[in-house]
This record gives sequence, structure tokens and C-alpha cells, in this order.
Amino acid sequence: MNRHDAVVVGSGPNGLAAAIELARAGRSVLVREAADEIGGGLRSGEVTLPGFIHDLCSAIHPMAAASPFFRTIPLEEHGLQWIEPPLLLAHPLDGGEAAFLRRSVEATAEGLGVDSGAYARAFHPLVDAWPQLETALLGPLVRVPRHPVPLARFGLEAIWPATRFARRRFRDEPARALFAGLAAHSTISLDQIASASFGLVLGVTAHAVGWPLPRGGSQSIADALASYLRSLGGEIVTGAPVESLDEVSEAKTVLLDVTPRQFLGLAGDRLGGRYRQALERFRYGPGVFKLDWALSGPIPWAAPECAEAGTVHLAGTLEEIADSERAPERGQTSDRPFVLLAQPTMFDPSRAPDGRHTAWGYCHVPNGSTADMTEAIERQIERFAPGFGERVVARSAVGPAELERRNANLVGGDIAGGSNALRQLIARPALRPVPYSTPLEGVYLCSASTPPGGGVHGMCGYLAAQAALRGPASPSCSATPPPATPRRSSARPGAAPRGEAHPSAPGEPR
Ligand SMILES: Cc1cc2nc3c(=O)[nH]c(=O)nc-3n(C[C@H](O)[C@H](O)[C@H](O)COP(=O)(O)OP(=O)(O)OC[C@H]3O[C@@H](n4cnc5c(N)ncnc54)[C@H](O)[C@@H]3O)c2cc1C
Repeated sequence: MNRHDAVVVGSGPNGLAAAIELARAGRSVLVREAADEIGGGLRSGEVTLPGFIHDLCSAIHPMAAASPFFRTIPLEEHGLQWIEPPLLLAHPLDGGEAAFLRRSVEATAEGLGVDSGAYARAFHPLVDAWPQLETALLGPLVRVPRHPVPLARFGLEAIWPATRFARRRFRDEPARALFAGLAAHSTISLDQIASASFGLVLGVTAHAVGWPLPRGGSQSIADALASYLRSLGGEIVTGAPVESLDEVSEAKTVLLDVTPRQFLGLAGDRLGGRYRQALERFRYGPGVFKLDWALSGPIPWAAPECAEAGTVHLAGTLEEIADSERAPERGQTSDRPFVLLAQPTMFDPSRAPDGRHTAWGYCHVPNGSTADMTEAIERQIERFAPGFGERVVARSAVGPAELERRNANLVGGDIAGGSNALRQLIARPALRPVPYSTPLEGVYLCSASTPPGGGVHGMCGYLAAQAALRGPASPSCSATPPPATPRRSSARPGAAPRGEAHPSAPGEPR
């Protein structure tokens, strides 16, 4: 271990991003991964039947497409191919109708009837301002913004609870439900302050950068990141859990792709005082119950156009989604859960035998819940796709305990690295000028428990590595622009610089 300048603990997207940034700065880097495979939330595997490849965690990647850090990496040269489904999101309604999120604001708005003007007014200005907004939103919120005017405009809309935002802005169910489904990615109740921010960011990314999925499964993102890291001289060992900081004390710099609870365990009595208290107070969000299906054919949607969407949100109305997302905060599960579903083989046949398909879906449950949501989730699919059950050849079901067993970062099944309530969007994991730094010299946190939080974007790792490279002498998030950042694909090599500096990095919910 003492051969390396830096050790990164954990090979999730943020651990790999941190390692890449350190290696690019000329540091020798070792990544130690507890699991037998790299990737953390980016792993794929045959969990139902041979030949059916399922994404064990992330499936759809708006934040990767939006990530200024990913744009600096030649991921396509390292084997990554993005696929963009014809429709980004379908939101079926009872009666065979559906709302759709399309690549352009205009086309999306056209499908929303009486709300078409309201939708365009809500999203057009934000999409236009996205190049300025992304640097602010994909990093720590507590810092001096480089573009205060667009950020203030965004903040005035984003601060609303999603339920209030949707009812105030839209008159009819399709637009309200479409927005509520986007906001429900927040994993917080849609009545909570600032829950609208998640709906706005996800909607804007759809129009600004798209919601792509990687050919072959999410593992291919991890494999491309690892391949690039190795090309820079970085090393990765798997099946190598770190149990204590003593094991990595020889390295000058240690970056931890772990959540606060694990950090407390790794640090033992090294951590004390207010920082320790802040980590002990850190709150985790709801868990998820996840299903993967091997299917004999495509999902038989009542609204046929749903087949063209990479992601499908199932729960019908705004009220139903809001009810479902309130339940985990009350320690309850919903009989009619909001289900997030992806159908990758409709666009990527490499993941299943000829003519066969896979589907991926989950709903939110209380943190640590032992409830089996299989029937409730499948009822929701059947409601909008009668005959779905007859196409199920095999299924894999995992709840919070199994998710956490596979990846210690998924505490109680929380997939976001901690609650997304406003307090923890601001102080993540504690209120500090540089949230990645810790009171332990040379030790940094770089997981989704730091800004900008959950999702596959690598920005937590990138920003943490930048903080480590600056060292303790530079406490503020000073501007270090990323290398060349091409505008669209996360991996196109050699494109022109965008000239937009992040106040501590290149710049990118969840
Ligand atoms: C079911 C599910 C669905 C999701 N869907 C999406 C999606 O569609 N799109 C999206 O953008 N995001 C999605 N996410 C979220 C996304 O996967 C995470 O936000 C992201 O992976 C967080 O990255 P990370 O690097 O912080 O941590 P992780 O990806 O969790 O990686 C942490 C790594 O550290 C390792 N580790 C932990 N402790 C130790 C230790 N002591 N020693 C060594 N190694 C250790 C773990 O084994 C793991 O490999 C989903 C997550 C889940 C679980």
C-alpha cells in the first residue's frame, strides 16, 4: 500500500472518478473495492436466467450525460456506447392514455393539451440556462455562485414542494402527474420543501442532454472508467474491503467512497467533536424494493407508445404518487406504490437472448423495510400493461437488507447516499467550507453522501479529488476548471472546451 500516493476506498462511480482525477494529476493511485466486482451502483449481472443481463442498481443515466466531469473522459475510447431511446419517459394514465417526456421542450409540451404553454414556460428558460446552472447544481450548494441570476430564478421555482409546484403550474392531470413522477426521484415526500427541484433538474436534463442508457448494461460505464484509470497508471484490487483507516495509513491521501456511518466505523476513535456528532446525526432516506424480470416478449402496454420509452413511471395521478411517497416517511409501504421501470432490451438487444426482454423496476419503502413488494409492484405494471404477468419467465427480488449486503453504501436500502431533505442538500454530510474534507489530515469523503449527492455523475469523486489536490491550505472551493468539456456526449474525446469553470471543479440528483 505504501507504494501509492493515494488510496481510494470503494469503486463506485465516485471512487473511480476520484481515482481518475488524482491519476490525471500525476499521483499513483490504488482503488480498494470490497466486492468481487468493481462499480458499486454500476454493476450488471445475470440475476434471473443465463443470457439475461440486468442492471443491479442504476439503469438510466441523465446525470452521467449531464456530468461535466464525464465529458472530460474519453469513455467511448474505452468501450462505452450510449443509446438514446426514442422517448425518454412514458407516464401511462388509466384508460390507455399516457404523457411523454420527449427530447425537445416543444414536442413534450405539444402532448400536454391545456398545459402545453405552461410546460414550455416552466422548462424553456431553465433549459436555456442549463450551461450556467449545471455548474452550480452539480456541486456544493453553499458557495458563491458564478451565475447568480439564473440560479436565483431556478431557486424561486425549485424551493416549492413538488405537489404545490405541479398544482400551481399545471391545470390537468397529465402534466401534473408527469412532473410528480420526475420529482419522486428525490426519494423525499413531494410535500417537502424543495422537492420540486428534483423534478425540474430531471426534466431539464431530459431536454438539455437526454436520458441515455449504456449498451451492455451499467457495468460498461464502470468498466470504461476503470479502463481509463488503468491507462493513467491507476490500480484496482477487488475483494479487498478496508475495515479500518489503519490499513491505509501509509498513503498520504485517502479518499473514501463510503457513507458517514461507514466512515465512523473506519475511523474509530480518531473522529470526535462536532464533526463526529454531525456524522452521527446524518439521516438516511427511504430504502427501495427492486425487481428484475426476464420476459418472453416486450411489455404489452395499453398505451402502445410506452414501448418506445427507456423509462416508464407507474402510478397514474399526482395524488397517487404523492401518497405513495409519503408512506415511507410514516414507516409504511404503499398498496399502490410509485414504480420506476426501465425496459433496456427494447433498445439494447445485447442484454437478452433473441426476442426475449428484461425489465428493471423498484419502489420506495421505509429504510430497512422487510416488506415484500413484489405483488404490489406487479399489480401496478399489470394495471397499465394487462398481460404483463404472462410474459414473466423469471424474476429476482431484492429488498433493503440484500441491497446493503451487496454494497455497504446502501444503508437500509437507501440508494441516494443519505436523505435528500433540504438540510442535507445544504450540509452534506456536515456544514463545512469544503464538504469533502474531514478533520483527519489527508482523509476525504467522496461518495454520494457529499455534494451533489446521488446519481451516476462522478462529481462527488471529482470534486473531492480536487479538494485533496489543493490540500488543507486552500479551504475554499476555488475555481479549477476541468479539462476540455465537450457539450453533449459524456465521453466524446477531443472536443472543444466549454469555457465554464466550476467553482471547484468541472461541474454537475439525483
Ligand atoms: C437500485 C438502484 C437504482 C439506481 N438507479 C439509478 C439510475 O437509474 N440512475 C442513476 O444515475 N443512479 C441510480 N442509482 C444511484 C447510483 O447508483 C448511486 O447514486 C451511485 O452509484 C453512487 O455512487 P458512489 O460511488 O457514491 O457509491 P456506490 O456506487 O454505492 O459505490 C460504493 C462502493 O464502495 C465499496 N465499499 C464500501 N465500503 C467499502 C470498504 N470499507 N472497503 C472497500 N470498498 C467499500 C462498495 O462495495 C461499492 O462498490 C441507483 C441505485 C440503486 C441502488
